[in-house]
Amino acid sequence: MKLTELQATLKELDASPTKSLGQNFLHDRNLATWIVSQLDLKPGERWLEIGPGLGSLTSVAQEFSKNGLLIEKDDRLIAFLRDRYPDLPVIHGDACRFDTRDLLAGGPIKIFGNLPYYVSSQILFNFTTDASPATALLFTLQKELAERFAANPNCKDYGSPTVLIGRRWKVTVLRTLPGSVFLPVPKVDSSVVLLTPRPAGEFPDCDGARFSTLVKLGFSQRRKQLGKLLAPALPQWAEASAALGLPVTSRAESLSVRQWCELAAWTPNGCHLDPQDKAQDVHREVFDVVDAEDRVLRQESRFEVHRQKLCHRAVHIFLRNKAGEMFLQKRSRWKDVCPQRWDSSAAGHVNAGRDYEETALREVEEELGISAPVREVSKIAPCEDTGHEFVGLYEAEHEGPLTLPPSEIELGEWFTIDQIRNWTARRPEDFAPGFLKCWEIWTQARS
Ligand code: SAM
Repeated sequence: MKLTELQATLKELDASPTKSLGQNFLHDRNLATWIVSQLDLKPGERWLEIGPGLGSLTSVAQEFSKNGLLIEKDDRLIAFLRDRYPDLPVIHGDACRFDTRDLLAGGPIKIFGNLPYYVSSQILFNFTTDASPATALLFTLQKELAERFAANPNCKDYGSPTVLIGRRWKVTVLRTLPGSVFLPVPKVDSSVVLLTPRPAGEFPDCDGARFSTLVKLGFSQRRKQLGKLLAPALPQWAEASAALGLPVTSRAESLSVRQWCELAAWTPNGCHLDPQDKAQDVHREVFDVVDAEDRVLRQESRFEVHRQKLCHRAVHIFLRNKAGEMFLQKRSRWKDVCPQRWDSSAAGHVNAGRDYEETALREVEEELGISAPVREVSKIAPCEDTGHEFVGLYEAEHEGPLTLPPSEIELGEWFTIDQIRNWTARRPEDFAPGFLKCWEIWTQARS
């Protein structure tokens, strides 16, 4: 949109840019095209724009793909946007409060915006949660903030935001924009940053909640040494730092994102992730092989049970909180079955000689790090979807926090029942078939 066009539109709307909404409208068409082209949008690809304003970037994005969605807070612009972009759904709301879990049901998405500076950080954190389906995020931020997200260790810009975002996202500053391309001209320069998901395995896997706890404690007083600051969550700092080759006198800003991941993955028994161990487990673990009536016939190794598709036993647990949400886990990439698919809160095989309920209690403890009573919802007969397992389906209640073993679980999230219903209906391919079967039985039992 040219400056004259922008001014005319504002006049037509009887509106002027509002400072409290961080409104600085882009009026350089070449720059708008350059910004959107950084996303490499393909026809039909899904995108979301935050704060479209008068549509400088929207018009360009729409030329690449019509499959877009807009979120705008300013009441005065909603009718204008709906009128101008009749094919694009416009959400009238606050991007800081937008429930990003709703995006999962639509699958991968590219997200962008020239963000309002007063809430850039909140918006950026809201759209980069662990479960985010974003395949790229492209934001114009205040230059200083952009530099903080992209900073390297041992400099003043490097802080907890750098590390918290850096674990899952690679942040690249693409270019700086002068204030003169906006109306009104902001007092500060801006930078365009691109965030892309880090490939699995780039950094050691660790529990996201533990990572955040350590990073926030570590940066709570930058000048203090980590030994004291981390003590509430990591009393064995001396042992951990020695094992990881870090000076015992280290400060938060001297640890790279990789080192923070290593620290979060460290346990007194060593790092809990050894893919080779996992590979051997399939031969070591022994299950009861059962008949069609769930009577034990004999025992076989996990490997043979799966290879020969023999009937065996498993449990799934659906964990709920007081808000009625359900916790789902995303299976780790190390799993031999359905890696990186979403699954029940906890699930596992019943080992030879064990029963369903004790296994459910054990799985809740091992996979979620809590102890909680379980109650049976249903027993599901073996079928292709359950992987030839008799499944004991259980429910449990807990408010968290949960501790997830990274060798088993990539990440976890609480979801509303409506979100799961919508998501499973639209993208069953995101879920382990065993979960979908349990979900079907659970929803029938609850209706
Ligand atoms: N994208 C437009 C452009 O480049 O000309 C406008 C950018 S302007 C810097 C920020 C936009 O975000 C404005 O349209 C403003 O109304 C909108 N906005 C402000 N706060 C918001 C919030 N919390 N949620 C969604 N949009 C918001």
